Amino acid sequence: MCGIVGYIGSKQAAPFLLDGMSKLEYRGYDSAGIAIRNKDVTVIKEKGRIQNLQKLVDSENPQGTIGIGHTRWATHGGPTEANAHPHASKRCVIVHNGIIDNCLELRDELSAQGYTFVSDTDTEAAAHLIDREYAA
Ligand code: GLU
Repeated sequence: MCGIVGYIGSKQAAPFLLDGMSKLEYRGYDSAGIAIRNKDVTVIKEKGRIQNLQKLVDSENPQGTIGIGHTRWATHGGPTEANAHPHASKRCVIVHNGIIDNCLELRDELSAQGYTFVSDTDTEAAAHLIDREYAA
């Protein structure tokens, strides 16, 4: 079971997200990540414990008051940094709980249309689908 935390407000998002994600640890997870929006979007993710992610966040110190965080329980692709959420495409950065049953078909279709996958997840297919919809 995984978890999602979101923040939009006037304070720094990263500490809020990490605190919320820690409170979801009891649900179980194998990797974790956050995205913080400022002028650009900074994505920081890591396999293993939230404490591992916390070290990266402390060193990168992302600034921004809008963000999303995710604790992942892998269903498609192993528990690696590349497979941790958030997943990005050109136009969006997403996190996702659950399973996309037809992801293999979607990945094949999107790959044939020129979309490049950098993870083994079903979730990345959704990120590229959103991209494709906005491009249409
Ligand atoms: N199916 C997605 C993945 O494997 C989400 C898993 C989850 O719910 O954490 O990345």
